[in-house]
Amino acid sequence: MKACKNVSEYTNGEMDNQSDGKRDLLMIVGPCSAESENQLRTTASMIRRSKVPVSFFRAGVWKPRSQPGNFEGAGDAALEWLKNIRDEFHLPLITEVANARHVELVLEAGFDAVWIGARTTVNPFYVQEIADALKGVNKPVFVKNPVSPDLNLWLGAIERIEEQISGTVYPIHRGFSVTGNSRFRNRPVWQIPIELKTRRPDLNLICDPSHIAGRREYIQEVAQKALDLNFGGLMVETHHNPDAALSDAGQQVLPTALREIFLELKFREYVELTDEKAEALSSFREQIDKLDVHLLELLAERMEISSKIGEWKHDNSVSVLQPERWSFILKRAQSRGGDMGLSREFLDQLFKAIHDESIDRQTTLPRHFGAKKNVSNERNG
Ligand code: PEP
Ligand code: MN
Repeated sequence: MKACKNVSEYTNGEMDNQSDGKRDLLMIVGPCSAESENQLRTTASMIRRSKVPVSFFRAGVWKPRSQPGNFEGAGDAALEWLKNIRDEFHLPLITEVANARHVELVLEAGFDAVWIGARTTVNPFYVQEIADALKGVNKPVFVKNPVSPDLNLWLGAIERIEEQISGTVYPIHRGFSVTGNSRFRNRPVWQIPIELKTRRPDLNLICDPSHIAGRREYIQEVAQKALDLNFGGLMVETHHNPDAALSDAGQQVLPTALREIFLELKFREYVELTDEKAEALSSFREQIDKLDVHLLELLAERMEISSKIGEWKHDNSVSVLQPERWSFILKRAQSRGGDMGLSREFLDQLFKAIHDESIDRQTTLPRHFGAKKNVSNERNG
């Protein structure tokens, strides 16, 4: 594991009167895509005037679009434009790379960092090709989460890059593809970056509220949530004329709005458990600890009964899955839990997990299948 660099090392902005925490945030700002030299220059100049600290100026040179026919970035020509912007405004550059050719061109142009997009992280062949092309490079590489909520795939991509480069690798949470209705373009599943941080405490998490939100009015809320969860930086798509942007128009913000978002962010200090401030939490934590033990006892008791039901179903040739019963349990949880102030999403996840475990128990009864199996490990196979 590599030690994490202090994010402020990259920050060369000058905003007065900011708390140290905010000053240390790693900020990646700039348009979704490079459209023209003029667009980049106007945006960069407005960002500089906003005085938001900038660690990297972003612009997609080659844009992976879900559908053909959409604007795919200006391509190779944009590399020269961006070099000019860097020299004019002293802005370190970052762009997306999706293959070895992109890496070669970007390194030749002297970019300061690269990111791997969500549609590339899903494919270990592409990630390995990029990692090999980056061999020995001492620059930060940012790895967006894959489009599906697959922590192993994300971590695997991070490790492939780490094996080849001497620079720091940063994971970026940009949300996951959505099916059905959602307020967000890409649903944030905070549990996944939290689990990543638990497995790899040395990694510094970055959040991309723009691609999570999909709409500029939600960016503040998502960015704040990320900070509350100790994320170390933000990538915010910023454009001099967002509504006229050739890609992701609805989620890009004006540099003046970026300043508002930045100023509005509340930075909470991360305190170690030994800190005095943590002492004040101890009585709440004692209550939580007792309740957690109680919850575990209740869950274990529920699973015991579930196993007995499983035996009974087996002996009476009744199928394990009873859709009406499951539907009744879920609806009752949603209704009663909702009355108790618990969110629908949380109740759905919790009861689906409980039901899943019950079903597993009932389909692998020890009496009929020999020794008790570790069902959850098996499922992860
Ligand atoms: C982007 O940052 O412009 C981009 C395409 O992001 P993602 O890979 O997260 O969709
Ligand atoms: Mn974009």
